[in-house]
Amino acid sequence: TIKNKIDDKTVVKEYFNATGFERWRNIYGNGTVNKVQLDIRKGHQQTIDKVVKWLKDDGNLSQLSICDAGCGVGSLTIPLAQEGATVFASDISAKMVGEAAEKIKQVMTNPTNVRLAVQDLESIRGEYDTVICLDVLIHYPTEDAAQMIGHLASLAKSRLILSFAPKTAFLTALKKIGEFFPGPSKTTRAYQHKEADIIKILEDNGFTIKRRDMTSTSFYYSRLLEAVR
Ligand code: SAM
Repeated sequence: TIKNKIDDKTVVKEYFNATGFERWRNIYGNGTVNKVQLDIRKGHQQTIDKVVKWLKDDGNLSQLSICDAGCGVGSLTIPLAQEGATVFASDISAKMVGEAAEKIKQVMTNPTNVRLAVQDLESIRGEYDTVICLDVLIHYPTEDAAQMIGHLASLAKSRLILSFAPKTAFLTALKKIGEFFPGPSKTTRAYQHKEADIIKILEDNGFTIKRRDMTSTSFYYSRLLEAVR
C-alpha cells in the first residue's frame, strides 16, 4: 500500500540520519572499523572503482553530466568530479549529504562542477547524460523497483548504471543463517533482486545491457549493470 511505502521510506531516511549514518560514514571512510565493516568497505570500493574505470575508458568523462542518485557520502561523486564531470548528487539523508559536502571541501579546491541536494530520488528532475545509482536498490522491495528504475530511466539521456545485491540461492541461504547484511538488517530491511528482474525492467524502459560486473567479498555482494539506450 502507499502508506507502507511512505513508512518504508521514512524508516530508511531516519536510519541514514541516525545510527545508519554513523555506521556507513565509518564504512565509507578510512578510520578503524571491525573486520566485517572493513570487508564491506573494500567490496564497495571495488564497485566504485569499476564504475569510474568504465567512464574513464570511454574518454569523454569531462563532457558528461552525471546524476548520482542516492549519493551517500559522495564516494562516487568525488572521483567523477575530480575527473571533470558535471555531477548532480542527491540523497534522502541530510546527514549523508552533509558528510559528502564536507569531504568534497577537503579534497577539491574549486568544486564548481558538483551540486548537492537533499531529496529522495523520486523527486529528482532534469536530464543527465548518465544516471548512476549504486547500492540503493537494497532499500526497495522488488515490487517498487520498477517504478524507481523507471523514474531514473526518464532522467537518463543515454545511460543508466545500477548496482544491487543479487538474489541467488547461495545468498538467500547465507542471509537465512544471519551472516549476510550483519548491520543494516538490524534496523532496515535489506532487499535482494533477481538479476533477470532488473534487466527486464531496464529493457522495458528501452535500455540494453552493455557492460556488467560482479563484486563479491565475504560480506559484500553487488551486481553492476550498465544499460544504454
Ligand atoms: N550510492 C552511495 C555509494 O555507493 O556510496 C551510497 C550507498 S548507501 C548503501 C545507500 C544510500 O541510499 C544511503 O545514503 C541512503 O540515504 C540512500 N537512499 C535510500 N533510499 C533513498 C531514496 N528513496 N532516495 C534517495 N536516497 C536514498
